[in-house]
Amino acid sequence: MPFETAFTMDTSSIKYGPGVTREVGADVRALGAHRVMVLTDPNLAGSDPVAITRDALRAEGIDAVLYDRVRIEPTDASFKEAIAFATEGGFDGYVAVGGGSVIDTAKAANLYATFPADFLAYVNPPIGEGQPVPGRLKPLVAIPTTAGTGSETTGVAIFDCNLGARSLRQVADAGEHPAVRRGGDRHDDEELHAKTGIAHRALRPVMGIVDPNNTRTLPRMVAACSGLDVLSHALESYTALPFDQRPAPEHPKLRPAYQGANPISDIWATRAIEILAANMLVALDDPSHDEARGQMMLAAAFAGIGFGNAGVHLPHGMSYPVSGMARDFVPDGYPTDHAIIPHGMSVILHAPAVFRFTAPANPARHLRAAQLLGADVAGAGPDDAGAVLSSAVVQMMRDTGMPNGLSAVGFTPHDVDALVKGTLPQHRVTKLSPRPAGEADLRQLFLDSMTIW
Ligand SMILES: [Zn+2]
Repeated sequence: MPFETAFTMDTSSIKYGPGVTREVGADVRALGAHRVMVLTDPNLAGSDPVAITRDALRAEGIDAVLYDRVRIEPTDASFKEAIAFATEGGFDGYVAVGGGSVIDTAKAANLYATFPADFLAYVNPPIGEGQPVPGRLKPLVAIPTTAGTGSETTGVAIFDCNLGARSLRQVADAGEHPAVRRGGDRHDDEELHAKTGIAHRALRPVMGIVDPNNTRTLPRMVAACSGLDVLSHALESYTALPFDQRPAPEHPKLRPAYQGANPISDIWATRAIEILAANMLVALDDPSHDEARGQMMLAAAFAGIGFGNAGVHLPHGMSYPVSGMARDFVPDGYPTDHAIIPHGMSVILHAPAVFRFTAPANPARHLRAAQLLGADVAGAGPDDAGAVLSSAVVQMMRDTGMPNGLSAVGFTPHDVDALVKGTLPQHRVTKLSPRPAGEADLRQLFLDSMTIW
């Protein structure tokens, strides 16, 4: 099989600055839209960023229709509700004001309203069919209100899919076979969920408006989880399987958005790690520190440009069943109407074990990442790389108040079988692990993540 010889660099245009949300009306007008769907979540519906956005759109004579029912950690059902609203609304543009959940929901609403299809048509295999997006979507402008997902720069929309107990097994057993369809019995007492997504360059917002004023009121735990998500995006994309060790696509249109580590993504990922190391704790400890908060938003966008082209690997792949199987855990600062293990938290809980596992594939990169994060790597050799990077990540987790492993968010070793089954379908990301991880490896990585320090 021939290996890949090319890589691409795709990103949204980015506008950065305190107060730039006020320019969204002019930006949307310049994109030629007249009637836009403004998406947000119920917690943000009455917030300044949403009010400023609506005023700015109105001032330019744009018809702005508010949709404030986005679910934090969206599901197939919440995506479909937004898609129905978008389909009926006849919009020629979209504005998302919120965190990754809001921006991802806007991508899905735009996609299915523009190119209607069965819901599973565009969803990543093996859960969906992974059909490429047929053409250009309506312009989407993303205004992030967390310094996290980097969703404003990527062509990925993640959601929690309710599969029913039987079909998740089918999906896991079927490996990459794209023809697996959802067939689970929805009346099963034990419904299973899997995080999956839709990934295509065409989903990417045309513009990200990165305004530090929009993160001033973020609860500390929300800011911490977002920041650690950024850190993992940067570390995973920098340590991912190199692009030229991936099989070449049969057709250019089949080249994945997540291409593996490559020279352009490396630039963005390494700079994001440096910015985080210098600003994350400052921003958390003093939310009025505008400079540090602004730097965190830039780091999120930089890491987004990196992983939006290189991809993420095991910490993200393993996080999806963990978030999907949240039972009763609700961290401070999050809405209490449903159990939630925030995305950034579920990702970082696996990072220490994963980097010890992946370091032998490229010790130099793991050491370099640790150094960028502020670790002392003097005298450290290739055999130390995994331990050194893991320790640096653990230090950051402790400083930011993360729980000590999966056991602290409600899991026991009895859950490991289900967690492994939920990770196996995440091929899109797990296959970018620089060291192949089979079922036995994943089992051990989950066990090693139960208690971290
Ligand atoms: Zn993430």
